[in-house]
Amino acid sequence: MTRKNRPWLFYDTTASVCTTCLRQVEAKVVIKGKEVFLDKWCPAHGSERVLIADDADYYRLGREVYVKAPEMPERFNTEMRHGCPYDCGLCPDHMQHSCLSVVEISEHCNLRCPVCYAESGPERQTHRSLAEVEAMLDAVVANEGEPDVVQLSGGEPTLHPQFFAILDAAKARPIRHLMINTNGLRLAREPEFVARLAAYKPGLEIYLQFDSLDDAVLQQLRGADLAEIHERALANLEAHGLSTTLVMTVKRGVNDGEIGAVIRHGLKYRCVRGVTLQPVSDAGRNLDFDGRRHRLTVSEVRRRIAEQSELFTLDDIVPVPCNPDTLAMGYAVKLAGEVLPLTRHLGPEALLAGPRNTIVFERDPAIKDAVFKLFSTNHSPETQANCLAALLCCLPTVAAPDLGYENVFRVLIVQFMDAANLDLRALKKSCVHFALPDGRLIPFEAYNLFYRGERAAKTAAIQAEIRAATERRR
Ligand code: SF4
Ligand code: SF4
Ligand SMILES: [Zn+2]
Repeated sequence: MTRKNRPWLFYDTTASVCTTCLRQVEAKVVIKGKEVFLDKWCPAHGSERVLIADDADYYRLGREVYVKAPEMPERFNTEMRHGCPYDCGLCPDHMQHSCLSVVEISEHCNLRCPVCYAESGPERQTHRSLAEVEAMLDAVVANEGEPDVVQLSGGEPTLHPQFFAILDAAKARPIRHLMINTNGLRLAREPEFVARLAAYKPGLEIYLQFDSLDDAVLQQLRGADLAEIHERALANLEAHGLSTTLVMTVKRGVNDGEIGAVIRHGLKYRCVRGVTLQPVSDAGRNLDFDGRRHRLTVSEVRRRIAEQSELFTLDDIVPVPCNPDTLAMGYAVKLAGEVLPLTRHLGPEALLAGPRNTIVFERDPAIKDAVFKLFSTNHSPETQANCLAALLCCLPTVAAPDLGYENVFRVLIVQFMDAANLDLRALKKSCVHFALPDGRLIPFEAYNLFYRGERAAKTAAIQAEIRAATERRR
């Protein structure tokens, strides 16, 4: 008798949530050809199949090779009572400390972007008080001891009436690097504001929204002509040598053909230390998001970088070990007018099956540690340069140059999962966390899906249901 086979590989089980009711559901990871899917089933709302990677080999690299032991925070903030994701956080079941903590200081913004996950805009006038912001900073410090990177965000953080008092409060705490997540409008229009910011160097980085070089595209994503604003902001940042990352929100069919152009543009500025690519997900305002049409997986963005950048190859972009499902990273070194991609020297074929004289970093614990340290999210440009220099010293096949942080250029892919592609196994490894004034630190995706604004009431109802069901079982 010939038995029928399923036409796919059953790779793993995990848990997710139903996209309709947000209740936890079981999920399977299945590989069909080159594509990887999350299959879920909710008793009330039926089956869903969602694409989570379009390159199974890359997906497996993140699951099987770039895996490291979780690093824990110094304390947890909530109990395990309802199960993940209804106990954020951080609850003791969370498997990674905060590499990057986000402190939202305002809901107000001078733009009203169609893709804003915080649904900010000019009509929202609430700013966190200085006391609340200090409580949020204290929560991060209590969890992390000396937090690596704290990002001030919003809304538009530079519009907070006590913005510089907040910077002073952050600088007064043992925070290694402070990042400002901004749309750049103030930086473009007020050179004296940038000059004042520069007084906070070193340890200050600008995370500058930069989706496109084309106003027609910026109208679609941001509802405004911003190309000239971006250039003026960059000119002011360059004049003051303020370390900057360009942050590109990528939407399929809108600006996914511009990834290479934005990377090349960033390379023209001395102050630009890299580009972060965030594929759009179904969070917040996100007016016309259609998962089937617009979703870009990490593996697809990685391929676009290789196709378009004229610099990085596939082997230059690898999974980030603290959270390999959602983060990928590549480095290049800028030396004497040249840009040299670096990660390929540690690339998959060297990792997995190279001949004896290539770097099989898994077999050398010192190199493995150095690689994993470099490829983690808790880096500012300064610490990246130090880590890179240390790593190059361990590598027999690469000549180690003298590196400063102005020599390092990093490309990072950050995918924020939404209800459709949420894998709770990956969420437990999230290392980007929102700080709240009540002392909680909530993983980025969990906050946007279950705890932000009106969503908290729905989550409270699910928590009550779980408690009632537990009582009945007692
Ligand atoms: S996401 Fe993390 S903190 Fe939140 S409930 Fe799950 S394990 Fe706990
Ligand atoms: S995405 Fe940023 S710039 Fe746009 S509305 Fe939201 S907070 Fe403002
Ligand atoms: Zn459901």
